Amino acid sequence: MKNQDLVEYLRSCGVCEICQLRYLKARGAEYRNINETLQKLDVKLNEYVKNEELVVSAENQPAKRARLGVCSTCLGLFSKDFQNELLSSILASDFAKYDCQKIVLAICLPMSLQLRQLAMWFALRRRFGASIEESNPPDVPIKEAVKLILHPIICEKLDKGYDANGLMINIDLTHNLEDEEVEKLVKLNKEAFPAKASHQKRIEISRGLLEKQYQPSKVKAETFEKYFQIPCSNVEESIKLISIDLQGPVVCVAGRYRKLSRELSHTPWILNGKRLMEESIEEIIIRDVGPHFTEKLGKITFMSSGREDVDVRCLGKGRPFVLEIPNAIRSCLSKDEAFAMERAVDASGMVSIHNLQVVPREELTHIKTGEEQKKKFYRALCALQEPVSVKILEQLQISTSFDIQQKTPIRVLHRRPLHTRPRTIYSVNARVQRGNPKALIIDIVTQAGTYIKELVHGEFGRTTPSLSSIIGKPIDIQALDVVGIDLDWPNEVDNSIQEE
Ligand SMILES: [Zn+2]
Repeated sequence: MKNQDLVEYLRSCGVCEICQLRYLKARGAEYRNINETLQKLDVKLNEYVKNEELVVSAENQPAKRARLGVCSTCLGLFSKDFQNELLSSILASDFAKYDCQKIVLAICLPMSLQLRQLAMWFALRRRFGASIEESNPPDVPIKEAVKLILHPIICEKLDKGYDANGLMINIDLTHNLEDEEVEKLVKLNKEAFPAKASHQKRIEISRGLLEKQYQPSKVKAETFEKYFQIPCSNVEESIKLISIDLQGPVVCVAGRYRKLSRELSHTPWILNGKRLMEESIEEIIIRDVGPHFTEKLGKITFMSSGREDVDVRCLGKGRPFVLEIPNAIRSCLSKDEAFAMERAVDASGMVSIHNLQVVPREELTHIKTGEEQKKKFYRALCALQEPVSVKILEQLQISTSFDIQQKTPIRVLHRRPLHTRPRTIYSVNARVQRGNPKALIIDIVTQAGTYIKELVHGEFGRTTPSLSSIIGKPIDIQALDVVGIDLDWPNEVDNSIQEE
């Protein structure tokens, strides 16, 4: 089969030039200059354009219709007119509201289109025989062609880059023959796949099924031809745009927070429908960071690497957190903007954030997984009922790790199931507080998930051993700070230092 013969046959069936290239299996940039590519592939340029009268007088009607009408295989999907319609519809949508550099097109194609590819496949087999395989499409499939042809054009015209995670432009298309042809397809399906169809009450024909099951190796041309023409019929109308729906990317903004208040909950604290604290870390951060990315603050998910109690501060480098923001209108954050957000959160006086930055979504695993393996560093202010002795100080210098068994504390039993969990304590290091001989400052390094207050006082033996059981005396914990979390994420960025 010569390329020239193939193209001449396609032309006679009313196939557009882009589709001709699809059947010549053209790749990427080859669709940009059609004539050049055709010549490269040893195909003479379209004679009928040059000798229109001759063609018409030679009764070559399909060729003439091809030039004037709609492509019988792509239904105009690759035509200039459709590109222009698509572009102007995208621009007329909320597109301008989104400040995203990258886009991706998600096109829902009518089934009529798929049926036409199959009709042409049958037609080519009839015309060119075995050189056209029966289970390997003779063309660059429409879906792939959309990526090769439409994507670059739309990206270029909109001046955007392509990214599968970018602003998603959902494009819903149909054709005026769609309903009628789907009806025929349901009948064809019953006949072509009787066993499968009899199991189903209602026959649902999906696009996936159409792609997988409908090829000459699985459906007979004679069966197909009872319902559809081979080659496909010419059409008057081109494909129609039903709707354009935009969906912004999921943007993840990470940073570290320090909790400076002993009267602030992690997330909104609501008990029996009543709010117990006016604010929370989550709300303060979302309030100052969220509006840059979305109008719907309620859709933002706040996550952190662990959490602390209301009365526990988190100091040191702070605790890693991330906001997951769906359908974002913006995916960039400049250092200036980030710094302004950091200052706004700091102004709360209760929370301070830094290292604020947009991170790739894949990096969320840092926060979501391996939580149990992480080490946490605490500093506790504790009180004894008697002055601290040298013996007690020695007992609370522990540099080799040991395991404890910890029952779920009574104070969290209303929201956590009762379990006994083993936890590893890596080190304990106590010193007497200056000016207060009964007070101890104890630095503790533990496995994440350890309940520190209970580790200190033992909670009536529910945590064993505890620091109290180790020294054989009651210990009261008066204040607790988280001073470190061993997660080197996100990257350290100083937003106060401006870029050149
Ligand atoms: Zn076409």
